[in-house]
Amino acid sequence: MKKLKRVQMMVAITPKVSMALAVIACIFYLIGMKASAYIVIGAIAVLLVIYLILCLTAWRCPHCHQYLPTKNAGKITKCPACNKNIFDEDE
Ligand SMILES: [Zn+2]
Repeated sequence: MKKLKRVQMMVAITPKVSMALAVIACIFYLIGMKASAYIVIGAIAVLLVIYLILCLTAWRCPHCHQYLPTKNAGKITKCPACNKNIFDEDE
């Protein structure tokens, strides 16, 4: 139960963090700090890989094991497929 909460937080936050980092990378690039820009881009790549792995393995309904939506992931409490509370532990 706690694990899924943590996964939800990661799935909700990672795209926003990636966007923020992308903006930072652009700024670094534009002001000529290309080495810093590449480091930030590398961090984005790592975040996206973690995000994909989470979405494919952990961000699933504990009842019917369907993939859960990634859009507005932070607000989801019910599985759209079986309509059960995803934080409810009893099957
Ligand atoms: Zn379900």
